[in-house]
Amino acid sequence: MLIALLLAACGPAPAPVDFALLPPSCPSPHAASAHPAPTATLPRTAVIPQPPPANARSILWISLHTVGARHLAMYGGRAQTPRLAELASQGRLYTHAYTHFVETAISHFTLLTGVLPDLHGNVPGNGGSLYKGPTAAEITKANGYRTAAFIGGITLEKHSSGLDRGFDVYDDDDVVRLDTRPAPQVVGRATSWWADQQGPAFMFVHLFDAHFPYTPADPRRYDPNYTGRYDGTDATLHAHRDAGRALPERDLDHVRALYESEITELDAALVPLLAAAGPDTVVVVAADHGESFEHGYYFNHRASLYDETLHVPLILRAPGLPTGRDDRFTGLVDVLPTVLRLAGLHTDAPLMGRDLADPPSDVLFALTDRCLPPGLFAARTPNAKAIWGPDGAGMAFDLVADPNEQSPGGVPELLRSAPRRYSSIIQALSPYIANAPQHQKRPVDRKTSAQLESLGYVVGRPPPAP
Ligand SMILES: [Zn+2]
Repeated sequence: MLIALLLAACGPAPAPVDFALLPPSCPSPHAASAHPAPTATLPRTAVIPQPPPANARSILWISLHTVGARHLAMYGGRAQTPRLAELASQGRLYTHAYTHFVETAISHFTLLTGVLPDLHGNVPGNGGSLYKGPTAAEITKANGYRTAAFIGGITLEKHSSGLDRGFDVYDDDDVVRLDTRPAPQVVGRATSWWADQQGPAFMFVHLFDAHFPYTPADPRRYDPNYTGRYDGTDATLHAHRDAGRALPERDLDHVRALYESEITELDAALVPLLAAAGPDTVVVVAADHGESFEHGYYFNHRASLYDETLHVPLILRAPGLPTGRDDRFTGLVDVLPTVLRLAGLHTDAPLMGRDLADPPSDVLFALTDRCLPPGLFAARTPNAKAIWGPDGAGMAFDLVADPNEQSPGGVPELLRSAPRRYSSIIQALSPYIANAPQHQKRPVDRKTSAQLESLGYVVGRPPPAP
């Protein structure tokens, strides 16, 4: 339905784009030569850890799952996040940061490797990235760090995401059994591990609480007078989810208030974690993507490339990093190179992102999973965005005159070459992608698959029962 809406809204003269220009991110099992065989190798798990550099700093990396920037008070929204605001006041708040992929595993892989989604295979729930280069965990481990991840939701469970590589500890206990672990529990385990570390440590903390369903402890916080029936659960929202039936604006705003209350509660849970990070620690806070409450697409994110899902909060705090708001145009791919510099580390990995101390990119790219409908691709400049469907029809928005993306027009000249440019960027790094046979989806077990689907993800079907 979304693609129908998108194409219906394309305007009278959509600019054709040849999607064949884009990398073959969704190869069939028969496309054995979709990518060249790897000719470049990079250090991964076989690396003998070196002693940490003398000036190495510990890294605390917090992922706020499914938290869109526009909902936070520090970005002009309703959700109060005083702990994050305090952290931002000690560091740098990036006001124009965008994700490149609107699903969990691949967005996190991009964050933690500094390369764009197509290098990872563009397939969530496939058992790992196709990219052969190192992750943040592998880079820090090779530099003598202790490494740990504490996972709050099933979408980063080790078998379905493959994100555990390079971590000494990958604590995803109970996420398959329970779907999610609440932030206080994840933070408690993370803080305990952190307290035991003597030398430099890299700790990744994933907090799933804002994700659907929206069931905060205080449902009245931002909408105390609501008397309707929507309580944020799947039972009341199921018929409306994705491209389902529209809600009256009054009810929709209440659901938004429930989501925002969850964000405020998530912020409160950060207290012990932020207290444990000493002033010499590099602290990163980012979201993997936002959440959609508009454009006829509700309570999910995987099929939308509007700014409501692309615009994410990003905070960095580190010794020597200038404080204040930073309006530079940036993508999540830029975070890792910046963090490595702030921590005093170096890598030979072919990072695509730009250190945030360097001049910004003029265009950022984002996509949905092209193995699944609607299969969208977007290019965004600071002031304009174009979104293309799989048949090459595109529409564009003037984000200065139309920041809510309500009035699509034809794709401007500036953005017409974006798919070709994106493709050439990806092709330049294709030697770092695993060989084609590994491209096929690796189905996760039936129970995990069912749980992922109940959360709104579409994953590889499990094999038939014997
Ligand atoms: Zn996610």
